[in-house]
Amino acid sequence: MPEQKNVRVRFAPSPTGGLHLGGVRTALFNYLFAKKHGGKFILRIEDTDQTRFVPGAEEYIFKTLAWCGIQPDESVQHGGDFAPYRQSERKASYAQYAEKLIAMGKAYYAFDTAEELEEKRKQIPNFQYSSATRLQLKNSLTLPADEVQKLLANGTPYVIRILLEPNEDIQFTDLIRGEVHFNTSTLDDKVLLKADGMPTYHLAVVVDDFAMQISHAFRGEEWLPSAPVHILLWKYLFGLEAMPQWAHLPLILKPDGNGKLSKRDGERLGFPVFAMDWTDPKTNETITGFKERGFLPQAFVNMLALLGWNDGTGTEIFSLPELCEKFSIERVTKSGAKFDYEKAKWFNAAYIQKTPAEILTIPIADAVAAAYPNATYSDFLKAINLVKDRCALLPEFIEQTAYLFAAPKKIEIATIQEKWTTEKNTFFEQWTDFLASTNAIDAANLETAFKTLAAENNLKIGEVMLPFRIMLVGGKFGIAVFDIASFIGVEETIARIRFTLQQLA
Ligand code: GLU
Repeated sequence: MPEQKNVRVRFAPSPTGGLHLGGVRTALFNYLFAKKHGGKFILRIEDTDQTRFVPGAEEYIFKTLAWCGIQPDESVQHGGDFAPYRQSERKASYAQYAEKLIAMGKAYYAFDTAEELEEKRKQIPNFQYSSATRLQLKNSLTLPADEVQKLLANGTPYVIRILLEPNEDIQFTDLIRGEVHFNTSTLDDKVLLKADGMPTYHLAVVVDDFAMQISHAFRGEEWLPSAPVHILLWKYLFGLEAMPQWAHLPLILKPDGNGKLSKRDGERLGFPVFAMDWTDPKTNETITGFKERGFLPQAFVNMLALLGWNDGTGTEIFSLPELCEKFSIERVTKSGAKFDYEKAKWFNAAYIQKTPAEILTIPIADAVAAAYPNATYSDFLKAINLVKDRCALLPEFIEQTAYLFAAPKKIEIATIQEKWTTEKNTFFEQWTDFLASTNAIDAANLETAFKTLAAENNLKIGEVMLPFRIMLVGGKFGIAVFDIASFIGVEETIARIRFTLQQLA
């Protein structure tokens, strides 16, 4: 791609609910492209459909982008030279363009009531308001001019629709898909201005992309069918030279590849599809987000970037600055990207490994305090470092460190009992005596002493190591056994051994 000048991209969500993975990825790709080319990333709130307005959704969008670390350069919250950035506040700017299209013969007034349209839908199978039907309907193409004037003058509700000529080929170049063609015969005459004076998405998106000097418009593939209408509006209103370059991003697919990933798939398959928890204000139902499930934002962003993009080398771990440097829109794939929750966790585990314990404790501080009220901060940091490589999600730190802060509630005594001998009993008696007498409680010293004692008692190390582990943690799991003993200290180690020995007696 030639050097880009004045790159201005926009993420233009409608505040209708929580942000789905696909929405955040659209924001991310816009952000990466802007940063790569030294441009601006604009967040525009597309709230012209008042019927779909959901309280809290706008706030949620800002919080999510902040959590991901992809802050807009211009927005309702960040300000900018092209304010306002909320379409409802730009209402007054749209009607003139709809009127201009009427004057050009590219749009028309339509006075049909909802009931009349409903009636048509019943009469005509697959009814569309289009070149095939519009001459049978109540609009400024069929009514005499003075009648139209009268209806307008007496305040009869109307909408303005685009007038699409039949069988026109509309073509544009998509940065991901290449040449894309549409035939207008398959399209309907979309409403541009609604009866309440608000523009529809189609008019508003074009007018605002022009007004905000957007250079590239990247959005989800689900908007591809709307593109021909947008291209025509650009052609009629502002000229195709001014039009942004388009890229329609591939869908994020269900794990089995069968169709678009939906909110319901997450519920059905038990993984998040929203970035952060979203509570529907109407039903009060909360849908879990990646953040609350225990994802680090860096891992979430890295995982999202790889859903439909790669740098061609097989590398998978990229920091946000690396992504900003490497990202290119041409390397975004055409085909849908399958979402794989196990892979998402793999990314998170990789980031957990790289992240200092001090940072990992921040999001889980409350949960830690509730689970281990007596644990000190420095002990918890130490514990995190010990179990880090076993955790893929942040809350797992609580369960993985449980035996470090409290004696196990249940001991798999049967496993020990099966192979218990007097020799082993003697060994553990001597081992507790040794522990009571030593100051050298670092893991390496303990291990050497344990092995020496086993050898003196003619016992194989494995024969006593497994019982020792079970005594300390309750079962056949956990980190290196001498790390555990060293962490919990001599007294607690002795207490746990004695507790089991009593049950074996
Ligand atoms: N308002 C549209 C949405 O909710 C934006 C589509 C576009 O970017 O053109 O996703």
